[in-house]
Order: sequence, then C-alpha cells, then structure tokens
Amino acid sequence: MSENVFDLIIVGAGPGGLTAGIYAMRAALKTVLIEKGIAGGQINLTESVENYPGFENISGFDLSQKFMQHAQSYGLEVVQQEVAAVEPGLEFHAVRLANGELLKTHAVILATGGSPRKLGVPGELEYYGKGVSYCATCDGFFFRGKNVIVVGGGDSALEEALYLAKITCRVYLAHRRDAFRGSRILQERVLADEKIEVLWNTVVTEVKADGQGVHAVALKDTKTGAARELAVDGVFVFIGFSPNNRLVPAGTRMDHDGYVMADEKCETNIPGIFVIGDLRQKYAKQIVTAAADGCTAALAAALCVEMKKAGQACPAHRG
Ligand code: NAP
Repeated sequence: MSENVFDLIIVGAGPGGLTAGIYAMRAALKTVLIEKGIAGGQINLTESVENYPGFENISGFDLSQKFMQHAQSYGLEVVQQEVAAVEPGLEFHAVRLANGELLKTHAVILATGGSPRKLGVPGELEYYGKGVSYCATCDGFFFRGKNVIVVGGGDSALEEALYLAKITCRVYLAHRRDAFRGSRILQERVLADEKIEVLWNTVVTEVKADGQGVHAVALKDTKTGAARELAVDGVFVFIGFSPNNRLVPAGTRMDHDGYVMADEKCETNIPGIFVIGDLRQKYAKQIVTAAADGCTAALAAALCVEMKKAGQACPAHRG
C-alpha cells in the first residue's frame, strides 16, 4: 500500500463503494478502497441489469467493470486485502488488515453489502455446490436441460427463475405465500413463461441427495400442511440477504435484522464512520440507491475530513 495514513478508507468495491471512490477522488481526498474479493459485489451474480439509468440492459459483471474503470480513471487506489477490524478513535480511526497491517484514517465508509440468506433446512449446506446454489448466473449452466426449483418471491427469485427458464427444461418456483413480493413487470414475465410453474404457498423442508447429487426436495403446503416430494436436479435459493456487518464497530446503532442505522449523510452514530448500500437500513436496496449512498457518504466524509483537519469534530449523528 502506498501510504498508511488516509483521509478516507472505503471497504467494499460494489456499486456503493466504487461510487464513493469516484466522489472521494474528485474531492481530492487521500483515499484507498479495500476489497477482499473481486470488484462488483452482488451485482456480479446478476445476469442482466435493466434498471440502472442509461443502460437498458447490461450484465452485472459489465456494469461493475465500468464502475471500476471509472473510479480508477481518477486514480483511485484499489487494494485486494481482507479487513479484519475497524476500530474507532478520536483523531484517527484504525483499519486493521488481515495481514496485520494497521492503517489510520480520518473517515471510513463501510460498503460491505450482504450475503444470500439460507433456508436452514437439512441438506442445504451439505449439498451447496453439488446441486444447491445461490447464483443462477454462476451455476445455471450445469443444469442445462434439467429440472430445477427456485425458492423465493422477491425480485431476485423472479429474475433468476426467468434466467433459468432459458437454460433448463423446467423451473418450479416455490413461494411461501400466494402473492409475489417482486416488481409487477417481473411477475408478469414469470406468469407468462410456459417453462415456469409457480408453486404457491409452498416451502422446501429438505434437500434430498445421493452420491450423484441432488435428486429431489421435500415440500410443504403452508396452508394445508400437506407434504410431498418433487424430483429436481437443482435448488436455487433467493430468499433475501443478510447484511455483512462483521466489521461494524461495537456501539454502532443497528436494527434487529443487523442493518446499520445512519442519518441522511449515511453517517453512523460514530462520527466519521459511514455505511452505504445494502448494509444500511433503508427502504430500497438497488444498484442506483447504493451508488447514491456512495455519493452522499463521500461528500459528507469530505466535509468531516476538512473539519477534522481544521481541528474541529466531525458533525455528529443527528438521528
Ligand atoms: P426480498 O425482496 O427480501 O425477497 C425475499 C423473498 O424470499 C420474499 O418473497 C420472501 O417471502 C421470501 N423468503 C424470505 N425468507 C424465506 C424463507 N425462510 N423461506 C421461504 N421464503 C422466504 O429479497 P430479494 O429478492 O433478494 O431482493 C433484495 C432487494 O434487492 C430488494 O429490495 C429487491 O427489490 C432488490 N432487487 C432488485 C432487483 C431489480 O430491481 N432488478 C433484482 C434483485 C433484487 P415473503 O414475500 O413472504 O416475505
């Protein structure tokens, strides 16, 4: 790493983190963005993005590459490292890396997003990668011409069911209620797709497999309680996300689901520590709102850094 004292450290290279990087560089903040995996985060798992303004249809991977190229065109330093801890301080916050390195910074933006929520049924984790998947774009190819079940009723489940219907023989879409949560346009496409069979009021209670991989799921009707078995080769789970809040410092306000509460500047109750994107408690978790958070937090961080350098405290949380 080029330095070990920064104005701003951004953790996570999804749409929020990279947008924060663009704004931070334009505000001339000495910034580093740290990402443990590949840039893009969750959007890399999305086959096609149709609601990011300016792009009628673009793959999640291509969009994340564009965000990265844009940020790096301003000279943003992106480091592939794992962050072990964020430790708040009065003058500087400390960011401890897994390799033992200690970085100091006036402000931190946490953009660590979320991870797919698990069903928590027998067989799910045992057969992850052997028939159970949380990413249709990554694994759909292996189920070409086969039968799969998608679980969930939100935008992710609907989008991924549509994607899988193009590849597989048949898609069963199991939703625990009798109405989808996802957007109307996706609902209409799913219901019009002859290869998708919706199983309303249905939950998966077990993933069944043998030496050859997954061969069936046990299902339960949530209204009648009736149980049955359905032969499938793959199980795709899209039942929402859990926030990746491991690095959120102790004492930061969170809701009961583990999302971080922040003010309109995306600042937490710890001055100089900001949260953006899917980690933040908010109404709409979209690429465009993650990017908007990135802008807001970087502009607010720039003000915070300026005040700290002038010997004043960062503006405190007003919520
Ligand atoms: P979500 O909107 O939270 O939907 C999760 C779905 O899974 C819900 O239908 C929920 O059922 C169901 N579910 C939750 N726990 C379950 C369980 N234990 N067993 C069975 N079903 C369960 O999650 P998401 O679809 O991943 O979307 C997350 C956010 O990203 C949303 O804000 C969404 O709009 C956004 N997103 C947007 C796009 C897009 O605009 N193109 C694409 C993907 C995601 P209930 O409905 O009964 O609660």
